[in-house]
Amino acid sequence: MDTPTRPCLGLALSAELAAQLEVHLPRGRIFENRSFASAREFMREQTQGGLVFVATSSWEKLTPDDRESLTAHRSWQFLLIADQHDARAMEYVASGVFLTLATCPLDGAKIARALGQAEEVSSMYDDIFLMAREISLERELLARKNEQLAFLNQLLTRASQTLDPAVILANCAEDFAMLLEVGTVLGVFWAENEGQTEAELFLPGALPHAHQAEWINHLLSVAARLGKHEVLGYQVSVLELKDCKPGTPELEQLITLPLTLGPEPFGALVICSQDASKLGQDRLRILSSAANHLALAMRNGLEFRKTKARADHDGLTRISNRHHFDVRLREEMKRHQRHQDEVSLMMLDLDYFKSINDTYGHQAGDMVLREVGKILNNTLRESDFPARYGGEEFVVILPQTREDQAWILAERLRSLIGQTVFRFQKKRFRVTASIGIAGIKPCALTPPETLLRNADLALYQAKTNGRNMVCCSAIEDTQAAH
Ligand code: GH3
Ligand code: MG
Ligand code: MG
Repeated sequence: MDTPTRPCLGLALSAELAAQLEVHLPRGRIFENRSFASAREFMREQTQGGLVFVATSSWEKLTPDDRESLTAHRSWQFLLIADQHDARAMEYVASGVFLTLATCPLDGAKIARALGQAEEVSSMYDDIFLMAREISLERELLARKNEQLAFLNQLLTRASQTLDPAVILANCAEDFAMLLEVGTVLGVFWAENEGQTEAELFLPGALPHAHQAEWINHLLSVAARLGKHEVLGYQVSVLELKDCKPGTPELEQLITLPLTLGPEPFGALVICSQDASKLGQDRLRILSSAANHLALAMRNGLEFRKTKARADHDGLTRISNRHHFDVRLREEMKRHQRHQDEVSLMMLDLDYFKSINDTYGHQAGDMVLREVGKILNNTLRESDFPARYGGEEFVVILPQTREDQAWILAERLRSLIGQTVFRFQKKRFRVTASIGIAGIKPCALTPPETLLRNADLALYQAKTNGRNMVCCSAIEDTQAAH
């Protein structure tokens, strides 16, 4: 491996030894005899290395630190010349510092043999060095593959453990942190609804208000680009992310992963990461297989939610159906008993509804029911729970609400419905509603059936007292309208 330009140094050799070496070294070898300090300097500068001839007499004079500072230059090889009778010469060779030993007096054959041995060992070292480097590269590769497998395994396991889209996304944000630096994760999913594209945006709850509009615009533009349609409506869902560092959308920090099942993407994940611009092929590949798994999990989650919503909601009015109401009432009663607070129930029945159908047609009746559903949704508080009980009858659960508070709300509803002018095929008409209210006081162990019966009795009272009025089951005097 030695090239003719690879220098040979003498380390403070006697003039005699230096002369012998100069005579016997093969032609083309550059030889210089240097002092310890100058040799050390030279070796530091000449990083390609070379051979150093050291006499046992000078080696012995060096301190352990000096020896260490010389042999630290790994590209230099050391040959020992036993210039005096020294039993320790073999010891020095055995210590591993020296490649070989030549005895005095030096001659051409000894030097040629020493150089030959040096070359052999040196090429062996080169091979070992190359092999070690290959092994360490392989090891690094294996470690990285292991990390990637662990990442995919965790992502896959957790994504299939839940059907809640927000939880799937929050979990995958944590999992991505196994692979790259993650500032935050956002999601956008789109679908056709009655001929127009609507989107659901998943934004981290920790997102500062000032950045929200920017992110919403960015996600809508992603949806328009990948979904190939302008998004006409959207709703925002909150992602509960641990360790979220949301900033503004900086394009060079964004990784957009389209989620596809079938021919076209139906959503995308946006990862905000400082590693975005330095991802190698292998990490990009692993991110794309992660996206495949996530696409399946997210599609299942979104479909499940849709099916559940369909099962819980009334097809005509789009508010909750009776089954959902029954479940919710039971839950609310349990909550009431735990927290010992009031709960009220409102039962609403449209007056003379049969005659609406008879006069304007069944479709007009359907339209009225839809509109009443909207009035309920728009008038009630977030915590109230309206449902269609059946036919033209609606119910509302009012948690933490006394009967007298419920009466005020019911009056507002009755008045809003009564004031609404319904229009159907150029005909205009009004509809009134009767409402019965029942409430339970804190600590009362009233079963749900009793609450329902009391509200129904109050409604019956409102009907028999003349309709278009609100009656309470506990309040004696009924409150007639107009
Ligand atoms: P009251 O004031 O006593 O409540 O009289 P009403 O006519 O409202 O009561 P009744 O129980 O006699 O009639 C209810 C009507 O509601 C009969 C039924 O055709 C109508 N109805 C029930 N469900 C629907 C529906 O989904 N769509 C339409 N258009 N009508 C419905
Ligand atoms: Mg009726
Ligand atoms: Mg009825």
